Amino acid sequence: MMRCPNCNGKDIGKIGTQNYYCWTCFIEMNVDQDKLTVHQVEADGSLSSLDDLFSEDERKIEW
Ligand SMILES: [Zn+2]
Repeated sequence: MMRCPNCNGKDIGKIGTQNYYCWTCFIEMNVDQDKLTVHQVEADGSLSSLDDLFSEDERKIEW
């Protein structure tokens, strides 16, 4: 089961082939092999990376 690395929530929606969205904390996640890249969607629709906030371990996907 995939969990949000930010809030640890399970309320994850699939928005694309490799794109997921956390409905709890409103961040977008992209699957890159076995890791997540995490973005925050800004008010103007642009994405800012949150990868720096998480360790490699935290971004590792455990299905
Ligand atoms: Zn979340």
